[in-house]
Amino acid sequence: MAELMITIYGRNDLKKAGGFKKKNDILEMKKTDFFKYLTDNKLKISSDYIDSAGSISNDKRFRCYYNGFIIGTSKIVAEFSKMEMIKCIQCDWIGEEEDLKFILEDENDLESGMNACPNCKTDGYLSDITIDKYKIISERIEYKDGTTKNIKVENWKGLLETLDNGRDTINKIFLFREIPGLDSKIRAIYPPIGQYDDEYGLRVTVEIDLFESLGEQGGDIYTEKYKRFPSEDRIREDTKKIIKSTYDDLRDSILTAREESQLEATKKILKIKETKE
Ligand SMILES: [Zn+2]
Repeated sequence: MAELMITIYGRNDLKKAGGFKKKNDILEMKKTDFFKYLTDNKLKISSDYIDSAGSISNDKRFRCYYNGFIIGTSKIVAEFSKMEMIKCIQCDWIGEEEDLKFILEDENDLESGMNACPNCKTDGYLSDITIDKYKIISERIEYKDGTTKNIKVENWKGLLETLDNGRDTINKIFLFREIPGLDSKIRAIYPPIGQYDDEYGLRVTVEIDLFESLGEQGGDIYTEKYKRFPSEDRIREDTKKIIKSTYDDLRDSILTAREESQLEATKKILKIKETKE
């Protein structure tokens, strides 16, 4: 019977010509086991820019096979990443069924009870939604003394608040957050340093992994400093600018093999179709 199989491998295990170098380290499993492996180890997955491979947040990668043929990874990423949640559209609270608060409208009538939004105390604004699991999964904090801890942040704002409140003790927070369509990930974010002033601002540092699909052969880390906490959209805009300027730098130069592959990646991201003269 044909079955979807997942192969997990390290970044360096894949041969250029296809197949694997170190057979012993390669794991092969069914989809249900793969999901269990990810959940048990609190791992995240994403598709690479080239869909035939995906990344796992423990720095491993994976491929999907059906009937022995490689198939795209994006469907399985979507299936694993989406979660059914409940949202209160009045106050923007998001939670699971069990987080709702049981409330009696009439204290003398048990029948009047309902599962309600814990803030608004009513079920009138509750709505079923599907959200990206990455948004509530834990992130890893690295403290200045070298210890680490996983924290659960609800959203980007919560993450920045954590960072701001912990600025004296936190070294950085690892994110591995994909920047959609840019073949890049937000890798880490550092708390603001120094006293705030108008000239220097907060100087929040953000590290971006560029050209994820190229792996170690062409991937790059780029660092941006911000005067105030950046939004995800702002980071995305700035990353796109960097990719554009990388394209401009490389397009008319004599390139190393590494730069050649980066130039190809920038063209794919920016959707530039041109032939070499
Ligand atoms: Zn509410």
